[in-house]
Amino acid sequence: MSRADGRAEFRYPFGRAALHFPEGRLVMTAEAPDKTGLARVKDLVAVAVQLYAKTENPRIVWTGDLAGETRLEQFRLMRVTGKDFVTPRMLRIRLGGDDLARFGLFGGMHIRMLFPTPENPDPVWPVMGPNGLPAWPSETQRPVSRAYTVRRLDAEAGWMEVDFVMHQDHGVASSWAAHAAEGDAVGVLGPVGRPLKTAQWYVLGADETGLPAVGRLLASMAADTRGVAYIEVEDAAEEQELDRPEGFDIRWLHRKGGVTDLSTGLSELVCGEAWPGHEQAFGWFAAEASVAKRVRAHWREVRGLGRDRTLVAGYWQRDSTGFMAG
Ligand SMILES: Cc1cc2nc3c(=O)[nH]c(=O)nc-3n(C[C@H](O)[C@H](O)[C@H](O)COP(=O)(O)OP(=O)(O)OC[C@H]3O[C@@H](n4cnc5c(N)ncnc54)[C@H](O)[C@@H]3O)c2cc1C
Repeated sequence: MSRADGRAEFRYPFGRAALHFPEGRLVMTAEAPDKTGLARVKDLVAVAVQLYAKTENPRIVWTGDLAGETRLEQFRLMRVTGKDFVTPRMLRIRLGGDDLARFGLFGGMHIRMLFPTPENPDPVWPVMGPNGLPAWPSETQRPVSRAYTVRRLDAEAGWMEVDFVMHQDHGVASSWAAHAAEGDAVGVLGPVGRPLKTAQWYVLGADETGLPAVGRLLASMAADTRGVAYIEVEDAAEEQELDRPEGFDIRWLHRKGGVTDLSTGLSELVCGEAWPGHEQAFGWFAAEASVAKRVRAHWREVRGLGRDRTLVAGYWQRDSTGFMAG
């Protein structure tokens, strides 16, 4: 990102965005070499305006290429093509669809899944609104949204796999997965999320909801990457084989059997991990929101590590439905 003469410019591998403020307006310019990149840049800036100017709620008016487009570039209608328990509480669903290359392009590994429900079995799918943001042709038939991770992707073969935790407090998403049958439709929006910064050493921490992301991260790391991943699961039957760099240590914590206690064990171990002195170290953590909050506070306030060195996210919240799904 660079700033000069009241103008801010953001450069991405797939395009660029510029912002400036003439006469009380915000002018955003999106440029990219192709349609996919342009749609991505437009989406990034429109979402940023929606998020950071919530109070002002300005009207966004686009001109130029893709201005009249109603097809939502980041949406895919997918169908269930397979289903398999990885472990007793982790259900892997394979989804087939067309034109999936974008899910491997922007460094984000998450998606928003859009589910039919028994009350709304034939939901309407989103289109592109004139402001460049998803729009819903009918509010009453809008599907229910939840955040998930693409565990594995083969864009050429036309499939992605998502691992669903079968949590006891069944919600829309876990129930959908439990009952999913071949051919069932589900909507996918994405990819979502920031790319992980490349480092030489990582400390990773997650419960089962972050385990698919840990699996994906480990599989993508260079062979000489070092570090440790603490993963909290129910019991030994929930441990998975994970592809990882040879020197990367994985420590499984079991809620049952006394190795750890849900509220303190995982966060204490992650916070207590000694970091190497060099700059090329990164911390990543995803679990229940209150546990994530403790880790974030420790890394920020005790260790003085900023967003450039750490990424901490609450992936679900106790007694709250659809956390982070919006
Ligand atoms: C970026 C991101 C990526 C994610 N990736 C994955 C993924 O790959 N796989 C995955 O399984 N989850 C993932 N999650 C977490 C998932 O979105 C939540 O667990 C979600 O709440 C599940 O939706 P639901 O409809 O089943 O339950 P909801 O309707 O949201 O919740 C119903 C009840 O279940 C409780 N609940 C929700 N999740 C859990 C849980 N894991 N354990 C115990 N109780 C729970 C809630 O507190 C609530 O009381 C991710 C979340 C984020 C933000």
